[in-house]
Amino acid sequence: MQDLYSQSLADLEQYCTRLAVSTVHAKTLYRRLFKDFDTTPWTTPGLPHGLAEQMPHDMRCTTASIAEESQSRYDGTVKFLVRMEDGSLVESVLMPEKKRITLCLSSQVGCAMACTFCHTGRMGLKRNLTAGEIAAQVVLAQRWIRDHAAWREERGYPGFAAISNIVFMGMGEPLDNIDEVSQALRILSDPMGLNLSLRKISVSTAGHLDGLKILLERFPKVSLALSLHATTERERSQLMPINRRWPIGTILDYLRNFYQQRDDDACLLVQYTVIRGVNDTLDHADRMVELLRGVPVKLNLIPLNEVEPSRFQSPEPESLQRFRDHLNAAGVRVMIRYSKGQDIAAACGQLVVSAEKRRLSPSAEAVTIS
Ligand code: SAH
Repeated sequence: MQDLYSQSLADLEQYCTRLAVSTVHAKTLYRRLFKDFDTTPWTTPGLPHGLAEQMPHDMRCTTASIAEESQSRYDGTVKFLVRMEDGSLVESVLMPEKKRITLCLSSQVGCAMACTFCHTGRMGLKRNLTAGEIAAQVVLAQRWIRDHAAWREERGYPGFAAISNIVFMGMGEPLDNIDEVSQALRILSDPMGLNLSLRKISVSTAGHLDGLKILLERFPKVSLALSLHATTERERSQLMPINRRWPIGTILDYLRNFYQQRDDDACLLVQYTVIRGVNDTLDHADRMVELLRGVPVKLNLIPLNEVEPSRFQSPEPESLQRFRDHLNAAGVRVMIRYSKGQDIAAACGQLVVSAEKRRLSPSAEAVTIS
């Protein structure tokens, strides 16, 4: 049995060819799956008998469900705890802004990167998500929007509202799961389905060079985000163990070259979590300017979300502003980003499925896809 959510349109076309029916039907199936959220698309009227009869024997949709949802009282952010078929739990976060609706997706259950300041990192890696489990997070969130008129109205989208942007900034290191993430990108970007253009999908990495090379070869148009967080190899290796395997200098050399060879205005989103007394001095800012020289960047400064228990603290507001102003004066395009959904622990680095939740969730109310 194959998971329908893991199929690209090309895969379904091949399936149709194997069943000796026209590939045109693959498009119908795809639309039913990803536009109408029909989990039994073979029941669509007008499909050839051979296809309608055989398909349920070969394929079905993985049964991911929303085990729990929490809405921020302040900014309309909604955090979903999504339960996969095997009981694994991940989180996705829906972030409404004026013109766009962004969904933050998880790519793994847990994470192997073990960044010292990140809550998810403490779980370790449980397993990779499949492409279908990644796509299912989008289907669940899009269906949730469709079914929650009050939320839409409150946020200023009275009629239909579609997720417009995807960021792979939830649990996991997407480039450590490159094959499933690649397949998910094919599925999410298909015009017949969810129709999210690759430019509107950001893949964020802690600096996984092997995965990065594969990603950019397969999807040169996808948007990239890099989690920087430090300005020397030594300091970065202390905060982010992955830096010992792929030093930041090597990653940035590779990206400098990648962006220099392009003829569009694409740029790298750099995320820098500002940690009091650790990476927030003006010397850090000066070194960052040098480090990023030659790479077209937009820089987001994210004040650390304190995750207990932790030896790390958020920066003082004045020192954060000084840090930003200093970078700004050096010509860097820089913004301070406060994490959304602070009151529901949906903020960066707080996506962790605690033992407590895992214990509670089997009884939590489930909203299933089907
Ligand atoms: N593994 C990928 C995707 C995760 S994105 C990556 O590292 O890019 C999540 C972002 O939140 C990363 O930039 C991560 O470093 C940052 N983050 C983790 N813990 C945080 C915390 N406690 N406060 C603020 N940002 C944090």
